[in-house]
Amino acid sequence: MKKIAILGSTGSIGTQTLEIVRDNPDLQVVGLAAGANIDLMEKQVREFKPRLVSLRSEADCRELKARLADMEVQVIPDMEGLISIAEMEEAEILVTAIVGMIGIRPTIAAINKKKDIALANKETLVTAGHIIMPLAAKMGVSILPVDSEHSAIFQSMQGENKDRVSKLLITASGGPFRGWTRQQLETVQLEDALKHPNWAMGSKITIDSATLVNKGLEVMEAKWLFNVDLDRIQVVVHPQSIIHSMVEYVDGGIMAQLGMPDMKLPIQYALFYPDRRPMAGKRVDFYELGSITFERPDMETFAGLRLAMRAAAAGGSVPTVFNAANEKAVSLFQNRKIRFLQIPEIIEMCMDHHRKIENPDVEEILSTEQETYELIRSKF
Ligand code: NDP
Repeated sequence: MKKIAILGSTGSIGTQTLEIVRDNPDLQVVGLAAGANIDLMEKQVREFKPRLVSLRSEADCRELKARLADMEVQVIPDMEGLISIAEMEEAEILVTAIVGMIGIRPTIAAINKKKDIALANKETLVTAGHIIMPLAAKMGVSILPVDSEHSAIFQSMQGENKDRVSKLLITASGGPFRGWTRQQLETVQLEDALKHPNWAMGSKITIDSATLVNKGLEVMEAKWLFNVDLDRIQVVVHPQSIIHSMVEYVDGGIMAQLGMPDMKLPIQYALFYPDRRPMAGKRVDFYELGSITFERPDMETFAGLRLAMRAAAAGGSVPTVFNAANEKAVSLFQNRKIRFLQIPEIIEMCMDHHRKIENPDVEEILSTEQETYELIRSKF
């Protein structure tokens, strides 16, 4: 029996992780955390019977506890709950599927308790990769990628000598606005940005895919996960999303992982690594597919990717500013307070305003996040 805990169980990755648990009786859920979706959390607790759960607010935790009076379950709110679940004695692996930098502290707590991490929460590595990766190495903990591109790279490295990698090729669908001009992007509405051509995901990452910010975050995530310099990471637009990413080796050979766009495969691969378990679902039919194509990303029109590269090259606290500014800007866009093209404008404004901290600790990362939020609040 493999015991797992999930942070973000009510979200897109969290619910798909629980579908995998349903299909694999040798997985057992011991802890679940989420934000505010109390109804779904109640259902999940009744079905999966974890020992410990968490919601963000104390009031929601009290309400959940009352609804679950007939069950033996402990409910702890907010960060204390996230950390308690991350540190659970009986859990072997923690799935980090919450959105944003709130994942940093629980991820560090889990690594300190020698839990392997199935990492979806890319913002954690983007902002604190310089803390998390060395800590994981020190504690002998595996960081198993859940992001489909990073899982593809990870799968393409199995059995290979990592010193022989010459380049990582991260594929991108290009999002719903691929090929659009700036002028066309002027009038984009929230509903348009939420229509991803290939993947069904949570709303923040779907908007990040439309701006190409997500691809920028993935470049930074890949840099930390695979210890590869930025100049050896290339983004390739591949609209069909069949090749999930590739690794080029020093002899020019390229290994790739292909499959239908379905997050359950990388989630399951991380949970059972190095095993592969059977999984139902549609298969790639190459006759039906006919052709796959590739393009260069348009970094001028989609400034989010250009700014991500700038943040990644600067390092230190700059990726935190990039990420925090994007989180706030996306939230303003979701609330229809700003236009689509203002998302990268806000990110750039915050990056220009920031005085870089070279090697920020967790406190400095979180205070940089707050300062960035404050700057945006003062202007919007
Ligand atoms: P969703 O928005 O669908 O879900 C987010 C989850 O986090 C929900 O369970 C939410 O709870 C919970 N949450 C949010 N804020 C808090 C908080 N303050 N405290 C505790 N829980 C909180 O996101 P996704 O599943 O799409 O994404 C999760 C992470 O995985 C992100 O970092 C994303 O970039 C990454 N990722 C996602 C992919 C995808 O296909 N969706 C692909 C690759 C990476 P509630 O809803 O109850 O408020």
